[in-house]
Amino acid sequence: MGIRLPAVTADCALAQHNTGTALAIEGVHKRFDKFTALQHIDLQVKQGEMLCLLGPSGCGKTTLLRIIAGLETQTSGRIVQNGQDISWLPPVKRDYGIVFQSYALFPNLTIAENVAYGLVSRKKPRTEIPARVAELLKLVGLSTAGGKYPAQLSGGQQQRIALARALATSPGLLLLDEPLSALDALERIRLRGEIRRLQQQLGVTTIMVTHDQEEALSMADRIVVMNHGVIEQVGSPHDVYERPATPFVADFIGKANVLPAVALGQGRFRSGRLELYCSGERDEFSAGQAVKLYLRPEDRAVGSERTGQPNLVSGAVLKVEFLGSSCLAEMQIDELDGQTLQLRFSLNQLHDLGVGVGARIDLALRSDRIRVFPAAAIGACS
Ligand code: ATP
Repeated sequence: MGIRLPAVTADCALAQHNTGTALAIEGVHKRFDKFTALQHIDLQVKQGEMLCLLGPSGCGKTTLLRIIAGLETQTSGRIVQNGQDISWLPPVKRDYGIVFQSYALFPNLTIAENVAYGLVSRKKPRTEIPARVAELLKLVGLSTAGGKYPAQLSGGQQQRIALARALATSPGLLLLDEPLSALDALERIRLRGEIRRLQQQLGVTTIMVTHDQEEALSMADRIVVMNHGVIEQVGSPHDVYERPATPFVADFIGKANVLPAVALGQGRFRSGRLELYCSGERDEFSAGQAVKLYLRPEDRAVGSERTGQPNLVSGAVLKVEFLGSSCLAEMQIDELDGQTLQLRFSLNQLHDLGVGVGARIDLALRSDRIRVFPAAAIGACS
């Protein structure tokens, strides 16, 4: 019987659209002695999706991945893969391929032998292995590397081989533990595009751990933002960026200006001398309640975009940080009693508006973009 190939087939395409649950994490709790690393994690991973576990160092993302892989044991809770409780299965009995940050190739085996490793240990017919290895090497763009040794390849190439090895047995689940962290910036960007392309092409359900928000935003179907062993938010990259559920998520993903304010009712808030209207807010804040307003640097209108907008302000540019395709200006806002905001401008706007140190600029703070959180929740979260 032939080996099941992860080629682009109608089945794979269907798998991508199948929204069934591939993996369910149910009430998973992990303690290391007295330290709680994970607190009752509930999460469903959909068939064919790419899910990123994102959070700061120590938030528990690697521990969760290792529990899914059977490399760590949960203190309580269950892991269910395709309806089967795998919580207590040893790693070798679980259906996944894994790629680590440190390539972890066998240095004394050739590239072809490395890729074939899982096929040999699972006793696939020897006659079929060379063709399968050739197919996988082609898949990762390294068709001619089979006879080389890992030390003869660059870091990026070694990680492509690690990926081919992880995919060799057509696992139901691909686990990626910070697979790009050891690579230089250019190679990281190149490989993240390739991993995503392969993942979509094969329709393989994938869980990737990363602390790099740009990686998560650019690669994931859904992002799980973790902090101190709990899930803060699960959502699409757009959701977590545009509609952060908690102050932690608003702070951790992207940049945000934070303005202390008081609720006035009906979506209105006062910060300094400025009455701000926040159209995106459900009216859940009582008048007089202390809140914090979160505004991303790009969520301002300038020039003719200001016409008819609420939240009109003006301010002086204190500093301009050049970032290549855009710049970040630190502005002192008159109506906010001199509070400063970091605001982003494109290079065209920089020239058209004359954004430079000492310049005065008229702006509107985008009412549909400001997120509001109770001031009390912020202390509790950080
Ligand atoms: P990083 O990005 O730095 O790897 P992480 O979010 O992946 O961080 P984990 O490695 O999951 O974090 O660790 C979560 C917490 O559990 C950390 O505080 C860590 O020190 C602790 N921890 C992890 N493994 C062990 C262990 N074997 N024994 C004791 N504590 C551990």
